[in-house]
Parts: sequence; C-alpha cells; structure tokens
Amino acid sequence: MAEFISIFSQLGYVLVPMHCLKGYTSSKKFLFFPIQSNHGCLKSYLYIARMKKVLVTGGAGYIGSHTVIELLNSGFIPVIVDDFSNSDERILSGLEEILGFSPVLYRCDCTQMEEFRKIFQSELPDAVIHFAAFKAVGESTEQPVRYYRNNIDSLLNVLELMQEFNTRDLVFSSSCTVYGQPDELPVRETSPQKTATSPYGYSKQVCERILEDFCFANKNIRCALLRYFNPIGAHPSGLIGELPYGTPNNLVPFITQTAAGIREKLTIYGNDYSTPDGTCIRDYIHVCDLANAHVKALEWLDSHPQTCEAFNLGQGRGNSVKEVVDTFVKINQTPVQAVMGPRRPGDVEQVWADVSKALEELNWKTTRTLEDALKDAWRWEKHLAQ
Ligand code: NAD
Repeated sequence: MAEFISIFSQLGYVLVPMHCLKGYTSSKKFLFFPIQSNHGCLKSYLYIARMKKVLVTGGAGYIGSHTVIELLNSGFIPVIVDDFSNSDERILSGLEEILGFSPVLYRCDCTQMEEFRKIFQSELPDAVIHFAAFKAVGESTEQPVRYYRNNIDSLLNVLELMQEFNTRDLVFSSSCTVYGQPDELPVRETSPQKTATSPYGYSKQVCERILEDFCFANKNIRCALLRYFNPIGAHPSGLIGELPYGTPNNLVPFITQTAAGIREKLTIYGNDYSTPDGTCIRDYIHVCDLANAHVKALEWLDSHPQTCEAFNLGQGRGNSVKEVVDTFVKINQTPVQAVMGPRRPGDVEQVWADVSKALEELNWKTTRTLEDALKDAWRWEKHLAQ
C-alpha cells in the first residue's frame, strides 16, 4: 500500500479516504477504489484526487506568498516562479516554517521567454495565477518603460506559453486603479474605466484588454480578472507579510515602520478632501481573505466554459486614512507619530467596492476585519525586527 501511495503522490495525486473528502471540491478529479476489509467485504472507498498544479508567478511576493498557503490548504499544488526583484529569502523561510516544507520554486524572470518556457515544459501546469509585476504607482511615473516592459511582457509570455502547453485557466492580478476616481460609489465591475493616472494603472488597463482579446480569440481559455482594492495585514503567524524595499508606498507598512521607530513620522497626505474627516477613503482588505479569493476564482473557472470575467475584491466599505491610523493605535496599544501634509498628486479621493458579484458568483466574502489586519501587520513588523 505504501508503494502504491508513493507512486500516486509522485504523479501529483493525493489519496483521500472517503471520510476525509469534505472540503475537496468538484474542481479536482476523483478516481475511487473500493477498500476491502480482511474478511473480503466492502469497508470503504479510497478516493484518488488529482491535485491541480498552479504556476504562481510572483509567488514569493506579498499577495502571492499568502496565496501559496491558501492553495496548499485547498488541495492545489503551487509552483512558484519569481525573480526576487521585490522579495527576499525571509519570505521563503517564513513559508517553510508555516507549511513545514519548502514549496517548489523557480528563480526566473517571466520576461525571459526561453527560461520561462522550460518551467512550463517541465511542470505542465493546469492553471496560472499571474501576480508578477511592478506595482509602485509613484515609481511607475519615473520609470514608465521599465514598468510597461515588465508588466506587459511578462503577461504576453504567460499567454504564449499557456497556448503552447495547453494551460487553460488564468487568474490575473488586476487593481482598482483601473477605475480611476469613479463617478459613483461603490464601484461596480461595469463602472467605466477613467483615464489612468499613472503608467502602473495604465499597464493594468492594457493587460485587462489584452486578456479580453486573448480569451475572445482562444475559445478554450478561461480567465478571471481580480481587481484588488487595498490589501493590508499579514499571515496571522507573523511569519510572512508585506516587505517593502526602501520607503513604503502603502499606508500600513508606513504605519508599522513608524510605530517600530524605523520612520520618524507618518505624513497623512491631505485632510481637506470631501470626506467626513477630510482624509482619503479606501477599501482595505486582509491579504488572507484576498488570497482565498484566488482559490475561489480557480474553482469558479473550472465550472465555467470560455470566459473572461472581472471581479472586485474588497471589504465592500471604505475607511479613511485617519481611521486606519487611529484603529492601529487603539488595537495595538502602540503610539504612531502622525502629521498632516499636503495632498499627494494623483491620489483618488475615495473609492470602495461593490463586492456583490464576487459573493454571488465566487461564493467569496471577507471574514477578517480591519482590526485583524492591523494586529497581524504589527505582529509581522515585530517579527522583522527580531
Ligand atoms: P509584490 O511586489 O510583493 O509581489 C510581486 C512579486 O513578483 C515579487 O515577489 C517580485 O519579485 C515578482 N516579480 C516582479 N516582476 C517579475 C518578473 N518579471 N518575473 C518574475 N517575478 C517577478 O506585489 P504584491 O503586492 O504581492 O502584488 C502582486 C500583484 O497584485 C501585482 O501584479 C500588483 O500589481 C497587484 N496588485 C497589488 C496591490 C497591492 O496593493 N499590493 C493592489 C492591486 C493590485
């Protein structure tokens, strides 16, 4: 029996006794064999589930690393492809500590086609989750070509390789930046996309358009465009989280670094907006909830024919920057030196998501609060300081 199990697991299958089947979904294919008792009568069934292999580009990054854990917890086999342009070894050791083993990893730049092709060739993935991209809005205005080259070339390579190796399903990391400042709130998937305010935002709009065209031309491809609102927080273990290089661009790492004494003070950009306390409003979502949405999207794709569908992923409500700072101080009993500064060019005043489509179609909703996210983010910052 042990040999039998070992052969199947090498081939990417997992053996599941029938009583353990709960939690496995129809997205995995099952074979089942009767198990006989010593007396020759039927005792149970042994199911063999083929686990889907998912190539996770950018899987050593912030959202990617949390998604790797969710994939494994849900019966998928993640294969990480990352060039470590915005990640480092601490995420790998954190993942290993959480999982008890190291996930399969390739150090590769997705814009390098020949190297990337070899990974597809040896792994033959069932699906791809494409996180790999540069993401700093401000930096993108200074280095537009670098951003367009990385974000668009890497997607084009993914698509050519999916065609070449018959990979059917793709989950793409998009962003609420595709909406700009919407006319109506909450913003729906059908809301018009305004002119992008940065090369980063435009690269996401272009990628979405490329994907729509690609799916239209390739009837066997299924794609989910996940429009993230504002991911924050960290894994509750405090072993992985957001790892900004240099000065953080996002609010929560700036708060935690200020609380930890790495930054002298936090500047809140603008308190004269038309919002209740004058500061900008965003829809903050715990990164673990966001990671879980990727699993739900893969499962959804599996039960849908050719498609290219966009989903908003957020809490479905907004919190102001000031509220986030105050909540952090209160929940962690830790002071943060915050000062008001002028507005920052390009900032949208307020945006939050209508998430009803994700609930209805993906059967997904958030389960963690702003307080949970800020506690987890602080635990991660303290872990980094050790
Ligand atoms: P991240 O920088 O932490 O992760 C991206 C990972 O991709 C990094 O590990 C980086 O090393 C890797 N990478 C970049 N270019 C690569 C390439 N050419 N080849 C291989 N690896 C490459 O960013 P994140 O916050 O985890 O974001 C993941 C995705 O989600 C990105 O596409 C980003 O645009 C999108 N997104 C992020 C946010 C956010 O606030 N974090 C919001 C909306 C959308």
